[in-house]
Parts: sequence; structure tokens; C-alpha cells
Amino acid sequence: MNRFGVVDFHCDVLSKLLENDKLRFAEDGPREEGAKELDVTWERLRASGSLFQMFAIYIPERMGKTMTPILQSVDLFMRRIEALPGIAFVRTRCQLREALQNGKTGAMLSLEGVDGLQGDFIALRILYYLGVRALGLTWNHANWAADGVMEPRGGGLTGKGRQLVRNCNELGMMLDVSHLTDQGFWEVVELTNRPLIASHSNSRKLCPHPRNLTDDQIRTLVAMDGRIGITYVPWFVTSEGEASVSGVVRHVDHVCSLGGEKHVMLGSDFDGIDRHVAGLAHPGEVWRLTEQLLQHYKEEQVRGFMSENALRYLDQNLPD
Ligand SMILES: [Zn+2]
Repeated sequence: MNRFGVVDFHCDVLSKLLENDKLRFAEDGPREEGAKELDVTWERLRASGSLFQMFAIYIPERMGKTMTPILQSVDLFMRRIEALPGIAFVRTRCQLREALQNGKTGAMLSLEGVDGLQGDFIALRILYYLGVRALGLTWNHANWAADGVMEPRGGGLTGKGRQLVRNCNELGMMLDVSHLTDQGFWEVVELTNRPLIASHSNSRKLCPHPRNLTDDQIRTLVAMDGRIGITYVPWFVTSEGEASVSGVVRHVDHVCSLGGEKHVMLGSDFDGIDRHVAGLAHPGEVWRLTEQLLQHYKEEQVRGFMSENALRYLDQNLPD
């Protein structure tokens, strides 16, 4: 059991449910004999002391670049997750406060990659009306808005992508820069008038992977009062040997050393990865991270990393 409540800014449960809706999220949900379990289940979220969980809508490329699988993901969220009595759907600051007061787990929707919107800002607004509150322009590859981090040409934003950033700012849609190229990162920084998040990225200085953030990028996110979601993706934790919980703590240390003590949050990427950090395979094991952090930091600081930094961001950036 976790000593502190947890906020997690990225998991891919919805993507797994979209591919196989027989997977079990909660005990009373449908069950398929022998099916592999999700990393994130309702029981494990409860055991982790989950205060808030972001559910990313990520559409695997082979499912096509249309609105249909995006809307199917929203439907899955409503039927399989939002419907649970312990979950409260969060779209506003008031709903977040209410969820916390009532001891419920706040659940929010984000979109990882805008491919399916096909440049249509009406579709963007409809997703906002449906409760999607954070958006990453790309996954790893290029789309109509920008280049993802694995796109060899490493370009920035298209004209439409620039319009998208402005539209998100106007709507109050939070912008997530994880997965963007460096070029794209700096262009979004230049354009945005709201603080950005990197929902699931670590330090590139400690682990030289292009999905991780450079020191300059971390300092920039800190300076604009954005947030960095430290992630448990083993190959973003270390490039050598087995990734450990203490390896994750090193990334927290590094962001703190750049002035980001109040800007560290967590973005597990559970259910988006097929390998895990040793001892950190699902929400029910996040207590190990809490305990390791408590060996290096004061309780108040650990509470900041585990939940309060993220909750403060939400409180300041959600609509009324
Ligand atoms: Zn991702």
C-alpha cells in the first residue's frame, strides 16, 4: 500500500481495450479466459492510492487515421472506466476538487497524436466538448500537424500544426510535448501562451534517448511553470543494464537539480510498454518508488512529486 496518493499523467489502458475489449479493467468487467491482464486495473489503482489518472487515447497506426477509433476510445472510457462508482470524470477544476473531496479517483482523457482529426478543428472542439483536456500533436511519426521524434527528417510544425496550437490555447486544451521532435518542441514553446507538459519523458542527459528531454528543454518547461512527467519506460530510464526504481529516482533528482522540484510529476506509460522497470510493473507497485524517494527527500517534497505538483497544474489549467 502506498503511503501517499498518486497522480499519473499517462497510461495506455484505452488503447489496449480498443484492441481487445475482453480485457478486464475492473473485477466485474468482462473477462476472457487466459487473456493477459492490463497493467492498470481498478483494483491496482485503488491499492496505489490513485487520486487522479490520465487515460490517453492512442490509436495504433493500423487502425486508420479517422475519428472513428478515437470516438470508440471515448465510448470505452465511458462504459468501462467512468461508469465505476469510485471514478469521477474530471473536465473542470470544480470536478477535480469534488473528486478529491469525495475520495474518488479523478479520471481525465488526453489525445496522443492528432492523426485522426485530419486537420479538422471542428473535430478538435468536439473532442474538447467530450472531455478531452490534453493533447499531444504526434506519436512517434509525422502527421498533418508535426513530426514525431522518430521521423528521420526531424521537422517541426506544419502551418496547420501551428493553427492547432493556437486553437488548443483558445480552447484551454493542455499541450503535451512528449513525442515531439526537438524542432517541434521549440516551435510549440514559441507559439503557446499556456504552460506545456511533457507527460511521459525523462532526462536525456541521464539516458540518451530522443524521447527524453534535454536540460534546456527541462529548464524551459520549469520556467513557464509547465510539468515533466517522469516515466517508467525502462529504455527511457537507462541505456545500460536493467532499469531499477532507483534509476527512476535519478531522473527526479536531475529535474530537481535544474530547478524543477515543483514541476516533477509522474507519467507511468503503463500499458504502453511491454517491458517494465524491475519492481515497478503496475500501479500496485508504485509504493516502491514512494519509499525510495523518501530515502532522498522530505515527505513534503515526495508528496509534491507523487501528486501535488500535478494537482496544482490541473487546478491552474482546467476550466471552471
Ligand atoms: Zn507515448
